[in-house]
Amino acid sequence: MKAIIIHTAKDLRVEERTVEKPGPGEVEIRLAAGGICGSDLHYYNHGGFGTVRLKEPMILGHEVSGHVAALGEGVSDLAIGDLVAVSPSRPCGACDYCLKGLPNHCFNMRFYGSAMPFPHVQGAFRERLVAKASQCVKAEGLSVGEAAMAEPLSVTLHATRRSGEMLGKRVLVTGCGPIGTLSILAARRAGAAEIVAADLSGRALGFARAVGADRTVNLSEDRDGLVPFSENKGTFDVLYECSGAQLALVAGIQALRPRGVIVQLGLGGEMALPMMAITAKELDLRGSFRFHEEFATAVKLMQGGLIDVKPLITHTLPLGEALKAFEIASDKGQSMKTQIAFA
Ligand SMILES: [Zn+2]
Ligand SMILES: [Zn+2]
Repeated sequence: MKAIIIHTAKDLRVEERTVEKPGPGEVEIRLAAGGICGSDLHYYNHGGFGTVRLKEPMILGHEVSGHVAALGEGVSDLAIGDLVAVSPSRPCGACDYCLKGLPNHCFNMRFYGSAMPFPHVQGAFRERLVAKASQCVKAEGLSVGEAAMAEPLSVTLHATRRSGEMLGKRVLVTGCGPIGTLSILAARRAGAAEIVAADLSGRALGFARAVGADRTVNLSEDRDGLVPFSENKGTFDVLYECSGAQLALVAGIQALRPRGVIVQLGLGGEMALPMMAITAKELDLRGSFRFHEEFATAVKLMQGGLIDVKPLITHTLPLGEALKAFEIASDKGQSMKTQIAFA
């Protein structure tokens, strides 16, 4: 089988790997679609991010869907041919955090395509993937591309849960890449009354409107575009900070009302915080990292027609054009979500 392997920055190859056999409780999946994520792009463009560096070749990818091709012993809830979304979240189930019900904080997490541990955890961009049946959520009724969107959508459902009560809230989303635009969908589904989206790119803001933002603010045209929202101690109850940029975080904090909640999703390195405003307005600053049980919820919401991610899938390229797909995905002026078609 072929797999998409990153060796070092800008050295991406489609190479042969041997197919594994599904063991007890596992299934073999014939991969259908794989979405390229920001973390894949960091490995591709920079060989890693922060202190995380590639130390050996690694199969990329963690946003995947496919069809069940073979069943391991004891698997009864899946059938050959089923379309499944495959969760890349593989907590150990036995450490303190898993036992506390916080599997996204598992000590021994085996998240696909991660160079955090060594040896690295190999990813899912391969023609055949062996996964636990428990990672697979049946996705009948969805396109293979939608099913592969379950992963980034889960990230934003988890963030929405972290933000607390959403019904009737006024929401600001800063940074309108895939995670920001999916946050708009998640916040709306959870009951947000008004959603304002801010970005430096008019094109990104077009996607934000397409998925339901009520208003958009282009911060490259108007650096002070969020200032009117800062009057009278602020406008918004919740900030989804998806850019990882300090300027956006600071402007967003000024626009939050007292007791507002900041959910930080963007990872842009360390940032200085306006601690005076956080203290005086009694703001809550909350991180959000990955997801676990939200994955099945993401599939259900899409199947029920309650969240439509289709407008965000801008490009689909065959496996043979993986390099081109990574170049397109790296160009925010072209791509929102670029996916690779494996079959
Ligand atoms: Zn991702
Ligand atoms: Zn664990």
